[in-house]
Amino acid sequence: MAVARDTGFTVWLTGLSGAGKTTIGHAVAAELERRGLHVEMLDGDVVRTHLSKGLGYSREDRDTNIERIGWVASRLTRHGAAVVVAAISPYDATRKRARALVSEQGPFVEVWVKAPVEECARRDVKGLYAKAFAGEITQFTGVDDPYEEPTDAEVVADTVALSPGESAALVLAELERLGVVPVAAPATG
Ligand code: ADP
Repeated sequence: MAVARDTGFTVWLTGLSGAGKTTIGHAVAAELERRGLHVEMLDGDVVRTHLSKGLGYSREDRDTNIERIGWVASRLTRHGAAVVVAAISPYDATRKRARALVSEQGPFVEVWVKAPVEECARRDVKGLYAKAFAGEITQFTGVDDPYEEPTDAEVVADTVALSPGESAALVLAELERLGVVPVAAPATG
């Protein structure tokens, strides 16, 4: 039986809207639970309905949102949780601040969920790219707002080339390499 570990950590998925952060994050979280860890997922869209309700998409508000998520992630990491964050987090300096805060408590694994804006717009899961290209919404990351590509991500998951399961496997391999996740027991039966 998998045994819950005391070492908390944070997996931080960054990337454009529609790149696959939530999809991969759920796959990672499900596998971590299966291996007996205490998992908490902090999804940017959900956080904005609670912790960051009322914040907009200016640089200042985006930074405040990410700083709040980073702070919560660090507190949870401190208490041994496996934290999975899925948030666009477009600014490199702000991601670095989250990394610094979490790293005081446990490993921080940055995952660049990478897909070109054309592919995200083709998927357009939430119909937001069509609106952004039509100018109906503004300050949309990748269209008329910046996304600073990560330079220090531990994992790069190219979601054009990889299935969600393959991307999740890359993340889990990194967590196993760090020794914070028990290696999967072989399937039985
Ligand atoms: P984000 O959280 O980054 O905004 P979501 O996970 O909500 O992105 O949406 C990504 C969408 O793209 C989902 O509908 C997912 O099924 C789809 N998708 C297609 N191919 C992939 C892939 N290879 N990896 C991840 N998601 C993919």
